[in-house]
Amino acid sequence: MASTVLAPLRLGRYPTPVHRLAELSAPGCDLWIKRDDLTHDVYGGNKVRKLEHLLAAARKSGATTLVTVGAGGSHHVLATTYFGKLDGFAVEAILVPQPRTEHAVEILRASLALGLQPFPERSWLTVPAAVSLRIAAGSRFIPLGGSSIAGTMGYVDAARELAAQVRQGAMPEPDVCVVALGSGGTAAGLAAGFAELRMKTRVVGVCVSRPHALSEALAVYLARGCVRRAARDPDLPLRLTFDARFLGAGYGHATILGDDATHEAWDTSGLVLDPTYTAKAFAAALWQVRARRAPCVLYWHTLSSAPIRPLMKLTPGAADDAALDVTVRALFGSPRFS
Ligand SMILES: *Cc1c(COP(=O)(O)O)cnc(C)c1O
Repeated sequence: MASTVLAPLRLGRYPTPVHRLAELSAPGCDLWIKRDDLTHDVYGGNKVRKLEHLLAAARKSGATTLVTVGAGGSHHVLATTYFGKLDGFAVEAILVPQPRTEHAVEILRASLALGLQPFPERSWLTVPAAVSLRIAAGSRFIPLGGSSIAGTMGYVDAARELAAQVRQGAMPEPDVCVVALGSGGTAAGLAAGFAELRMKTRVVGVCVSRPHALSEALAVYLARGCVRRAARDPDLPLRLTFDARFLGAGYGHATILGDDATHEAWDTSGLVLDPTYTAKAFAAALWQVRARRAPCVLYWHTLSSAPIRPLMKLTPGAADDAALDVTVRALFGSPRFS
């Protein structure tokens, strides 16, 4: 069934590079990296590709205000604010507390400085009602992590981009592709794209939130939806698996293995990881290599490597510093929240 195809916006710079991490490879098992930290100079990472599809649809709908949801230090909320504002939208977000880390506070301050209108809630329980109110007021909903089927199509694009790099000899076809699994769109889109292209690559989604079965189920649903949209054959086998061993206490909680992986990535390759997503995904990738699971392991890097500081300068129309402090306290104020 042919659905109308909406051309995505082009926000990022592609293809993002791939290279081998020589110091972290093992005999008979090479570790490669896909640098989606470099999707954009001002704010990169994995949300850029999703927003190309989501903002195109929002524009077509005639909406002028977007509303999304996330934890206080959500990269997705920051990316939606930055690219949404750039495209002329007002941007709102329903926000919930998460463990306080310096990185998470910086991300929130940047979103607010860019003019995000925040609606802090005390827990996820009240989020649906808060979202409904904003939708009733006319705001267009952008889902958690940008992971609708439309947003996930951004990672079908990414799989096609990798396939072209393999064809051009930039890297061998990976046996395994390791990526963080949050709202699931990134892993799902890659798995759908690899299936469409009949690649052998198996995706390993590394769980970062509880209950992990929920993100896994969401990822499978999204991957199936994308296969249906992208390929002629909706019954293509999906190579999408999960690894929940690196999750630790839950979303936003650092782990010892994640911290070790963070130091190794920095010391050997100058790569910066975050405790919520990429530390855990990279730890899982290192495990794949050290257990010699396959000759070619690709770690898909999803964290923007652009500096956050320049985004933290207040833009006209944004909250002043005092209002900003109130929101930061509401979302990171109490150590009870976790
Ligand atoms: C959002 C995010 C993820 C998770 O991607 P999903 O598509 O939500 O699974 C992984 N890494 C980073 C750095 C992110 O910001």
